[in-house]
Amino acid sequence: MSTDIFISGGGVAGLTAACLFGSQGFNVTCVDPAPPITERDADGADLRSTAFLQPAIPVLEMAGVWHKLSPHAMPLQTMRIVDAGGEAAEPRATRDFNASDISELPFGWNLPNWLIRRELVARLAELSNVEFLLGTACTKIFTRSATAKLWLSDGTTRSAQLVIAADGRNSLIRESMGIDVKTTRYGQKALAFAVTHPIPHNNVSTEIHRTGGPFTLVPLPDHDGQPSSAIVWMEKGPEAARLCALSENAFNQEMSERSCHLFGPLTLASKRTLWPIISQIAERFSAERVALIAEAAHVAPPIGAQGLNMSLTDLSELLELARLHPLGSKAMLDAYDKKRRLAVKARVMGIDLLNRTSMSQTAWIRDLRSAGIGAIHDAAPIRKSLMKLGLGAR
Ligand SMILES: Cc1cc2nc3c(=O)[nH]c(=O)nc-3n(C[C@H](O)[C@H](O)[C@H](O)COP(=O)(O)OP(=O)(O)OC[C@H]3O[C@@H](n4cnc5c(N)ncnc54)[C@H](O)[C@@H]3O)c2cc1C
Repeated sequence: MSTDIFISGGGVAGLTAACLFGSQGFNVTCVDPAPPITERDADGADLRSTAFLQPAIPVLEMAGVWHKLSPHAMPLQTMRIVDAGGEAAEPRATRDFNASDISELPFGWNLPNWLIRRELVARLAELSNVEFLLGTACTKIFTRSATAKLWLSDGTTRSAQLVIAADGRNSLIRESMGIDVKTTRYGQKALAFAVTHPIPHNNVSTEIHRTGGPFTLVPLPDHDGQPSSAIVWMEKGPEAARLCALSENAFNQEMSERSCHLFGPLTLASKRTLWPIISQIAERFSAERVALIAEAAHVAPPIGAQGLNMSLTDLSELLELARLHPLGSKAMLDAYDKKRRLAVKARVMGIDLLNRTSMSQTAWIRDLRSAGIGAIHDAAPIRKSLMKLGLGAR
C-alpha cells in the first residue's frame, strides 16, 4: 500500500505531524507500538505539561486542533525567574519578564500532555485520509531515490514519498539511515507532576534556581477548586530518585521548601514521573526520503519550554518546503536540513549553558547567575531581545 507521508512514532510530535499533514490534504500513515494514554490518572500517563509558545499556535490551527485545545489552556503572561542560590533557600534575586513588553499576547498557553494527546487523537478520528495504526511498530526501512519502503510489526508494508521520523530519542529510522548523534549527559533527572497551592499563580510561570537544576511551576487550570500548577523539578539522578520515593507528606514538605514557599504549602495532586535529562542533536536532520523531527532530531533539557515548540517549527518548515518542492525530494530534504539543523543547534547549546549554571554547586557561579539575571532584566533592549529569542526569533 502506498501513502504520501509515513510517520514513525505517535508521541505528541508524531500525532501533531499526522494532524497537520492530514489536515493539509496529504494521505498519511502514522504508526506507534504504544497506544497514547489519554487519561490523567491512568498508569503511564504523561504528566508533563507543554507551554505552547506564540509561534506554535498557527501550526496547531493548521492541524485543526487549536480550537479543541484552547478551552483547556492556561495563558502564560509573565515568566518569573528567582535565584535562591545563596546560603539559605530563599529568594535573593527575583525578576519578572512580562509578555506585554514585546507583544499584546501572552508568551504562550500551557496544557497537560495527556490532554494534548487526547485532543490530537480526537482530531485524527475526523481525518479519513489519515491511517493511524496503534500497537504497530515500524521495524525496517529501505529507501530509493523515488520512494521509501517501510516494514511494520503487523506483517504489512507501506511505501511513501516522505518518511517523518518522530520515533523519539532512540529513533530506529535515524539509526537505520546511519545518522549519528552527539549526546551530552548531565546525570540529571526531572520529576514532573501537578500540585495545588493556596496562593494563586496569576498566570505567572516561576522558575526557581538553587542547585541541581531549575524548579519550575507552570500555571494549570484550577484542580478540585484550588489553584494548580505543573512542576518540573530537576536534580542529580540519585537525589531525584530519593525525592520520588518519599512519602507524600515528606515530599510535600521538601517541595514546599524548594519552592521557597512562594505559593504557600504545595500539595501533590498527581503521580510523580521521572524523566532522564540529556542534550542530543543529530548530525543530519534528513536522509534519502527521510526527515527527522522532534526528539529523533534534537533533545534539550526542559528549560524555557523549547523542546516541543522546536518540533512544531520543524513541522511548519517541512510543510512550507513540501509546498515548494516535490514531496520527499532531495531538494526538499536538503533545504530542511540546512534550515533547521543550525538553528536548533544554537538553541540546544544555549539551553545547555542555562542548565549548567542552574545545576552548579559552586558559590561564585551561583553569585554570577544571580547578578546576571538582574543585569539581563534591567537592560531593556537585552531583556526584550532575549524574550523574543525565547519565543523562537532568530
Ligand atoms: C520534564 C519535561 C518537561 C518538558 N516540558 C516541555 C515544555 O513545557 N514545552 C516544550 O515545548 N517541550 C517540553 N518538553 C519536551 C517535550 O515533552 C518533548 O519534546 C516531546 O514530548 C517529545 O516528543 P516526541 O514525540 O519527539 O518523543 P516521544 O514522546 O518519545 O515519542 C516517540 C514515540 O515514538 C514511538 N516509537 C518508538 N519506536 C518506534 C518504532 N520503531 N516505530 C514506531 N513508533 C516508535 C514511541 O512509542 C513514542 O510514542 C519537556 C520534556 C521533559 C522531559
